[in-house]
Amino acid sequence: MRRHWTLMATTLTVLIALIAGFGPGLGTAAARTWAIVDSGDTGPNVYAVQSKLKHRGYSLTVDGNFGPGTASAVKSFQSANGLSANGVVGPNTWEKLVVTVRRGDTNIVVNALQRELVKHGHSVSIDGAFGAGTESAVKSFQSSKGLGADGVAGPDTWAALTGAAGGGGGSTRAQLATTIRDSSRIKLATVHVSGVVDSANARQNIVDTANGGAARRSSYQNAPGGSVYLDTRLLNGMITLSQSWTYSVSEIAGGSHSATSRHYAGVAVDVNVINGSHVSSSHPNQSAFRSKCSALGATEVLGPGNTGHSTHIHCAWPRP
Ligand SMILES: [Zn+2]
Repeated sequence: MRRHWTLMATTLTVLIALIAGFGPGLGTAAARTWAIVDSGDTGPNVYAVQSKLKHRGYSLTVDGNFGPGTASAVKSFQSANGLSANGVVGPNTWEKLVVTVRRGDTNIVVNALQRELVKHGHSVSIDGAFGAGTESAVKSFQSSKGLGADGVAGPDTWAALTGAAGGGGGSTRAQLATTIRDSSRIKLATVHVSGVVDSANARQNIVDTANGGAARRSSYQNAPGGSVYLDTRLLNGMITLSQSWTYSVSEIAGGSHSATSRHYAGVAVDVNVINGSHVSSSHPNQSAFRSKCSALGATEVLGPGNTGHSTHIHCAWPRP
């Protein structure tokens, strides 16, 4: 009996040590879903990035437009923090860049926080001073997102404020991707059209998204590397399209496209086979498929007749 008790106590001690050692790590970064902020983006999330860089001493203009000056500051910050310097602000960069602000602070980060609060419908003055009104708006925002309403804008609050690309919640995005992954009506390519093999193929993009992660981009020719959260409008569109046709996807976020392609923003899909036949100008369903993409909100729909699209249909939603 005594022996059993000793064994149990030892097991408990080990368990407690394990929980104490690994618990905090599991509860933080893994739970946060960050927006991807990239060159060409504008608005409050760009202010959030720029203000934090400025606050940390980087030289750039804080104007809400992600231009070359911002990209260069982001790359410097990434290099200085042991991150790959791709100039795209994703989860790893956010985790190191985020600045916590609280009541009594007066700085440019507070200014960006106020812009985010206004974006989410809260009424605060954008004056860079964290007073009672800003604190009350932060608490109200935190409550609405199920966060502890302490009025302090730390990493969890910033992640929720900046949202994920497309504005969908992490679980919704993962659920949609799971539906696509398991659909017998959508075939996802495992090799790029170029023949390149990497971890940014269409199937892997969907598998990574179903697992709650970002979809990887390729790093050859025009492709910028890094990763992007697939937009929920794209994922919803793909599911609805599969209700009318079976089809094969050749590319989502991976592959090399034009330098400013929406594929890199997680809002575009290329389809090369519909109902078992390769896409061509004479395909009986290609026109209806394109119309359906437009009806589902895609604003860039290309196919046979458009340069570079004789063998596939490209459906892209607006950038997040
Ligand atoms: Zn395309």
